[in-house]
Amino acid sequence: MNRPDRDALAHPGPLLLVPGSVLLPEGPVDGGAVVVDDGRFTAVGPADELARTHPHLNAVRAPGHLLMPGFVDTHHHLTQSFGAALAFGEPSEIFRRVWVPLEDALDEESAHTAAKLAALEALRGGFTTVADAGTRADVDVDVVASAARDAGIRCVLGLICNDADGTADVDGTGGAGAPAVLERAEKHLARYTGDALIHPSLAVSIPEAATEHTLRATARMAAEAGAVVQIHVNEHLAAVERSLIRHGTRPLEHLYDIGALGPQLLAAHATLLTPRELTLLADTGTAVSYNPVASAWKGNAVAPATAMAERGVRFGIGTDGTRGDGFRLADAAEFAQRLAYGLTTGDSSCGAGWTWLERATRGGADAVGLGGLVGTVERGKAADFLLVDTDTPELALSWDLPWELVRRGNRDQITAVFTAGRLRMWQGRPIGWDGPALVSRAAELARAAVAGAGVTRTHPTSTEARALNEHRKGSARR
Ligand SMILES: [Zn+2]
Repeated sequence: MNRPDRDALAHPGPLLLVPGSVLLPEGPVDGGAVVVDDGRFTAVGPADELARTHPHLNAVRAPGHLLMPGFVDTHHHLTQSFGAALAFGEPSEIFRRVWVPLEDALDEESAHTAAKLAALEALRGGFTTVADAGTRADVDVDVVASAARDAGIRCVLGLICNDADGTADVDGTGGAGAPAVLERAEKHLARYTGDALIHPSLAVSIPEAATEHTLRATARMAAEAGAVVQIHVNEHLAAVERSLIRHGTRPLEHLYDIGALGPQLLAAHATLLTPRELTLLADTGTAVSYNPVASAWKGNAVAPATAMAERGVRFGIGTDGTRGDGFRLADAAEFAQRLAYGLTTGDSSCGAGWTWLERATRGGADAVGLGGLVGTVERGKAADFLLVDTDTPELALSWDLPWELVRRGNRDQITAVFTAGRLRMWQGRPIGWDGPALVSRAAELARAAVAGAGVTRTHPTSTEARALNEHRKGSARR
């Protein structure tokens, strides 16, 4: 058996960990090791050297395992987890019909439970950081922070700063007005100083949900605080056309015109990009969350991520709350590029495996503003990492591990998940708290929340769709 010693891994205090191999920024290496102390990697190097320089530490061995950076989910809505499948089959702009009413129906307990459920799913799937784009639930955003902290996941925590008139139906904030919104934003950015896992961020649902003054002010405040502003941009055709009618420019161009693009902006989706908008992203250093599963499930298009990589656009990969498996997300990232762009141009490499593995880790860390802290296994960085069992039929006969991780990896192969140097998940189960109890409570609360939410769905469940299909065929035959 290859299993590392769980109790030794869970033990607080310095840890000399010797896995079979380590995924370094330049690629996987055998015979490496790390020392984890006080939440950070304090040494990364050859195992024999680290054993020599740390004679007081007993090495914990994890043969047959790859130590790799945890995945970074660059776009999530933690408090939407009660309704994932409610969006299946729905036409675009689901937020109006499903997410806003659902989040509106959450109270403090259900918002906390929804967020913790999402964090549990994310950790099980190898994500050690999630960027939350801001809850629309009428609760203090600290409810989401405490859920993330309780679960043991790092969270870039968005606070929604919508203030434009007539957006109450979009954002649920009731139009608080710019001064109040900016005062809350200022407090939020200062609220989590010194917190090991929570990193504040600002958010605007869509460009038209905030006044130009607030878009500019939030950009400036975030830049000064070293935080990011999360905005859904150029996701759906309807939204692009609304912007064209209102401003004569597309949403991303509009943000550029008013001075809101820049390294502090994390643009979620950016699926519908003109060549000019690609140039604007690259020139301004704006980051993008490429959300391939969201494109497949509800989108109008797939973000041109291979082209973004080539053009030097900063980007990571996000789930948008679709499903929390880092390997399946990286796979979807490659797969979507291949179908949408690679097949039409005969590009059989399509970024190769490393592009998508890297964007799912260090690229994501950079995009959410944590490039100096997480995303790679390097001395001085936070010890957010996975131990992945590579002694499996899927991975053992390795010829090209980065690409194999993208195409053949999945959450079942993750033995251990660490954030900030602490073991948080062991074989899919959380450490120190009761995962199954949370899941059953979430199931109860979700029923009640959805029943009271006034969600509008246009698509029947798949079973009803089947019956309807049969009925239609029957009618056609008569
Ligand atoms: Zn979103």
